[in-house]
Amino acid sequence: MKTRISMNLLRFRQVAAAMVTALFLIPPSFAQETGGDKVDLDALAQIKTEAFEHSRVMENLFWMSEVYGPRVTNSGNHKLAAEWAMKQMKEWGLQNVHLEKWHFGYGWQIKHFYAAMETPVYAAFTGFPLAWTPGTNGPITVEPVWAPIHSKADFAKYHGKLQGKALLMFDPAPLTLHTRADAQPSPTDEEILARGDARGGGGGRGPGAGAALNRDPSGRGRPGEGEWEYTPTSLALANAKNGVLRNEVNAFLKDEGVAISITPGYNGDGGTIFSTYGGSENPKDPIPPPIVAIGAEQYNRIVRLLQHGITPKLNFDIAVDYQKEDLNAFNVIGEIPGSTKPDEVVMVGGHFDSWQGGTGATDNGTGSSVAMEAVRILAALHKPMARTVRVALWGGEEEGVYGSTAYVQQHFAQRATMVKTPEYDKLDVYFNDDGGSGRFRGVSAGGSPQMAAIFKSWIEPIKDQHIVAVSGGNQFRPTTSPGGTDSTAFSWIGLNGIGFQQDGLEYGTRTHHSNADTYDRVQKDDVMQSSMIEAWFVYNAATRAEMLPRIPTPAPDPDAKAHE
Ligand SMILES: [Zn+2]
Repeated sequence: MKTRISMNLLRFRQVAAAMVTALFLIPPSFAQETGGDKVDLDALAQIKTEAFEHSRVMENLFWMSEVYGPRVTNSGNHKLAAEWAMKQMKEWGLQNVHLEKWHFGYGWQIKHFYAAMETPVYAAFTGFPLAWTPGTNGPITVEPVWAPIHSKADFAKYHGKLQGKALLMFDPAPLTLHTRADAQPSPTDEEILARGDARGGGGGRGPGAGAALNRDPSGRGRPGEGEWEYTPTSLALANAKNGVLRNEVNAFLKDEGVAISITPGYNGDGGTIFSTYGGSENPKDPIPPPIVAIGAEQYNRIVRLLQHGITPKLNFDIAVDYQKEDLNAFNVIGEIPGSTKPDEVVMVGGHFDSWQGGTGATDNGTGSSVAMEAVRILAALHKPMARTVRVALWGGEEEGVYGSTAYVQQHFAQRATMVKTPEYDKLDVYFNDDGGSGRFRGVSAGGSPQMAAIFKSWIEPIKDQHIVAVSGGNQFRPTTSPGGTDSTAFSWIGLNGIGFQQDGLEYGTRTHHSNADTYDRVQKDDVMQSSMIEAWFVYNAATRAEMLPRIPTPAPDPDAKAHE
């Protein structure tokens, strides 16, 4: 039934588009698209002026990343940054600005970090504690033992030998010559188009999820496109991917009385360290000893000293803050109310939480800054939009897309039953940005040819901005669980969760989940472009005659309980 109605509308728009073409001599490429929209070029000009001449996007990024710092979910930093974001939204005229809470667990953040080698010669270490691991209760001096844990069988091998030690439980990092630049050159428009639909729904992150382009698959544990793998050099390196395994390793370390555990991170060299969490936000999970990531060369040096029969003395002084008072984390929400159809909603957002090594600038300070800037631009236009525009800055993305998953189930449908709320039919689309600093080069249509045609008509007048591709117009892969990023929480319950394909730059090779995830790695021109495009997409969705066509609903998920 629904399909038949939208097909009729589609034909109507085809005829309308043909008439418009004849009247206004719109370029032939526009006329060839079927089912596209006639767009408001006056509004586009205003959006561009606001985005390129009065941009606030780098100012947003400065506050959230440099002033409030890394925003580990439910930490004090995360809360202060959220208060700042709400204040900004209110200043820009957004309404209904508030936090929405959902159950998460402990917050955690770094208070103090010192790590060095005292003997045989002094050497300062670069590094940071792994999230949800404790501090040292003051300065400690410890001797290291290299005891790589490759499987649970190794527990017996090291039993009774680790008491009071600094445990190096990983193999030395295999460091190789950099024969390629960290940042890949941006693909040309032609190269983007040539990939086209081959990228399907967006790099394995579910339909319409979007992805960073050009991730470098070479090097130490460098991830493949759209997927993040942990280097399989030891059992412990895999533990962040596997909560059960992580708990078993952590319980072993605790039982053995390990003083501190050291990792070279799962990637990086030359001062860049990739690492995320060692413990868990769940109060029921065992708390391990302190775990720190240090530079790969520094880690390897300790192993080589031990192999030469020289046992160095190491100094650590680490303080962290477990936030245990409020186990509810939050999403930040703000709105521009719709003028004539306020109950129909167009959403835009990114995740506001980050890891702790850097300042969460590219993951996902950029997506959050861009979403905030997009709604600021639209608020500044003072042009009526029929539908309500709602911005969401999610929490808990890094730990498992928790914030957006809680939100969609609370507002739209419980995934296990697919019992829908009245809001379900009124949610038009959610646009997500979580691919780092790179500019938008394409958009995923989530497997819907009708959506692809509409998006093509929206990008036609902005191709000079190098967004040229609409992918995933003819493929559909059901999202069986939210994963990768927040748009998948929407597509998981059959809502339109749309992501953009972005230039990869140095996201996979340098900044994603590393201590190099900082303000200076963000490219100003790129995030200004992304803000303009996101504002334009939201404007079009909020003002077009009908809501966007729905991407097909996947079947109910038998594993839905895991995400409640
Ligand atoms: Zn992210």
